[in-house]
Amino acid sequence: MLPLGRRKWHCVASGFVVAILLALGAAIMLERVSEFPINLHRKNGLAFRDKSSFKISIFADLHYGENAWDAWGPVQDVNSSRVMDFVLDVEKPDFVIFLGDVITANNLATANATLYWDKAIASTAKRSIPWASVLGNHDDAAFEWPVDWFGPAGIPGFCSDSELPSSSLYFSGTTRAELMNHEVQQRLSISLNGPEVLWPSISNFVIQISSSKKGGGAVTLLYFLDSGGGTYAEVISAHQATWFQQVAIDNNPDGRTPEIVFWHIPSQAFDSVSPTPNGPISSPCFGTINLETVASQVGEWGIMNILKNRPSVKAVIVGHNHGLDWCCPYEKLWLCFARHTGYGGYGTWTRGARQLELTEDPFQIRTWILLENGTKTSARILYPRSKEMATSNIKTPSGTLA
Ligand SMILES: [Zn+2]
Repeated sequence: MLPLGRRKWHCVASGFVVAILLALGAAIMLERVSEFPINLHRKNGLAFRDKSSFKISIFADLHYGENAWDAWGPVQDVNSSRVMDFVLDVEKPDFVIFLGDVITANNLATANATLYWDKAIASTAKRSIPWASVLGNHDDAAFEWPVDWFGPAGIPGFCSDSELPSSSLYFSGTTRAELMNHEVQQRLSISLNGPEVLWPSISNFVIQISSSKKGGGAVTLLYFLDSGGGTYAEVISAHQATWFQQVAIDNNPDGRTPEIVFWHIPSQAFDSVSPTPNGPISSPCFGTINLETVASQVGEWGIMNILKNRPSVKAVIVGHNHGLDWCCPYEKLWLCFARHTGYGGYGTWTRGARQLELTEDPFQIRTWILLENGTKTSARILYPRSKEMATSNIKTPSGTLA
């Protein structure tokens, strides 16, 4: 919805044996599917185009739609689009990840926040780049009434001459399910609504990146988990952890395929490895801004224990904290913040976007951050791990040394 005038805002073996084995396999799969439906390879999936790299740009915390009734709100959205246009033109990624807080729903007095969602994905969509999204804590947050609306001319008399029928108006927000239903209908989105047994935690799904070689299979698996917030608790539940474990075993039983995990709100493990806020980012951590305390999930219900015991998982990448962009080792995997991409949301640190570049043969994960001023920072090979990381003495919650 286009910003309305302030007045209107107020009112919103043998063939036989093989056949039996196949049938048995199918039955087992169906049983699995009935427990946790798994949708891999939606649409065309992703694949290396040739033997070169596969590049991913991560857009975190865009926060579209803030204060549409003030001049600065829409300007922020224009600036956020400019940042993404720049990143996409420089990096030319194969895939984009929207890492949550795409919109600031608590500022959206509109019946349909997907119109702001569309603004946020437009730069990617118009370049015909596929993408996927996870939900953050602001995407479905309840509307917060600005105090300054309650002046002499304010609510409720303000609505008396509105052209809009009050029944169509606002303030009820767009639910997590509605946002993801809209997202999955986009031609180039390969996001999925996760299994309903996990709802209201919705953005739980897995995407395979396949080899460029014919019949080459999976090169990497990308897992997306909904870390809640907004109308739901800020958690990755035990049920989600179980779902992850099952999906990971089903799709990567021997753990040969490297895996990368994405969600919005850092888990408490990020706290445990964090450099001292406002202090230096010392090796083996690396990054450029460390200007606030980790705002982690409210509890730890098993996902980190599963991840740290799964050697195929190479990194967990989150957003949420706009003043952090470091990566630190946690046991054998990396915990990384993305980089605040949007002009919406708190903080005035130079906007940018974390990049991931995967190579197929030999498999490698490289990362860096491209800032809107053209600077590339924090370049590092995440996998294979450097000797420095492998021998570092990082204290973990379990007290073991990585
Ligand atoms: Zn945010």
